Amino acid sequence: MAESNFIDYVKILCRSGKGGAGSRHFHRAKYVPKGGPDGGDGGRGGHIILKGNRHMWTLLPLRYQRHVFATDGQSGGAGRSFGKDGEDRIIEVPVGTAVFDADSGEFLCEITEDGEEIKLLRGGKGGLGNWHFATSTNRAPRYAQPGQPAIEKAVILELKLLGDVGLVGFPNAGKSTLLSAISAAKPKIADYPFTTMEPSLGIVNYRGDKSFVMADIPGIIEGASEGKGLGLRFLRHIERNAVLLFMIPADSDDIKKDYEVLLKELKEFNPELTDKGRVLAISKSDMLDDELRDEIAKELPEDIPTVFISAVTGQGLTELKDLLWREINSEENQVKTTMTHRNLDVRHRVEEEDEFIFCQDDTEDDRFPVDDSDWEDEFWEEEDSVNG
Ligand code: GDP
Ligand code: MG
Repeated sequence: MAESNFIDYVKILCRSGKGGAGSRHFHRAKYVPKGGPDGGDGGRGGHIILKGNRHMWTLLPLRYQRHVFATDGQSGGAGRSFGKDGEDRIIEVPVGTAVFDADSGEFLCEITEDGEEIKLLRGGKGGLGNWHFATSTNRAPRYAQPGQPAIEKAVILELKLLGDVGLVGFPNAGKSTLLSAISAAKPKIADYPFTTMEPSLGIVNYRGDKSFVMADIPGIIEGASEGKGLGLRFLRHIERNAVLLFMIPADSDDIKKDYEVLLKELKEFNPELTDKGRVLAISKSDMLDDELRDEIAKELPEDIPTVFISAVTGQGLTELKDLLWREINSEENQVKTTMTHRNLDVRHRVEEEDEFIFCQDDTEDDRFPVDDSDWEDEFWEEEDSVNG
């Protein structure tokens, strides 16, 4: 496939900043006989933050950005002065971007709204300076906390288009033609398969003041769920659609069978897809005379509302929009748009094998441990190197 501007998959190595070390400083002033501990706290390491941006439509800007590293927090200083926090790094992504652990394929989070921010990797907390540890029995603590370590993680960002209606059909069914007929989108149309190499979105105006979004997705072929054709790469976009519009051309040899194959491919990719609202359009109906049409009408699948359409003559398009609108707004389908994510099968997805090192996981604990027992021994510095 040619290099495309539509990038829906990138792998990035992210690293948060280390926390700055707490200082082990002792106050020493000329006329003060005994200076107390006054080492300040280290600064927090920078977070790695994801932020939704509705003006972005592709992950292309991230394509060549292989690393995103936040900066470390600075060490605390004398006189209880705080170390400076590290700088956060914000990764802007299109709405509908899901994030997976590149190593395990585990689903981590998803950006669903413009401006939404998710802390992907937490910056290490700064260590406490030694003055925190002065007690009645130890007035001169010679230790301070080191900062927490940075967290490093390779992640896969995957964009799922947010469309109300997703088009499902074999190549050549007339999907792109329909989208260009009922929206302002201009997908490529041709009488050979797989002209649609990139999904495109169109806004369909409905009865004057309403609209919905329709996504044209490359045609499904038998075996798409196993990676045949372009199927697998794009099937995931369908996961985000509220309603699926199946399209089978009027000149199909066996409409019922085609429908079963499409359904089967969806089910094999993700069984939840078959829970979505469905509408069937028999496309290219301008090729049918009344007799043929009546014949076909007798052999349609029974479990799906069906409409005969022609993108060329405009036949059936209003009825189709009515049907879709009803499905989009049905309460049942509202619930289904909030998709549960299957974890990624990384073996299928990772195109290049990069070597990434893995560190420990993010910590849930927001508390600053003051009590010794909260800290592992290794977090404590040697007592000898005071003020060093
Ligand atoms: P896609 O692969 O499903 O996107 O199919 P396309 O939209 O690219 O259309 C495939 C072929 O079918 C093209 O040659 C179109 O001109 C033709 N076609 C699409 N819609 C209609 C229709 O309503 N009537 C007729 N007669 N031909 C159509
Ligand atoms: Mg097409």
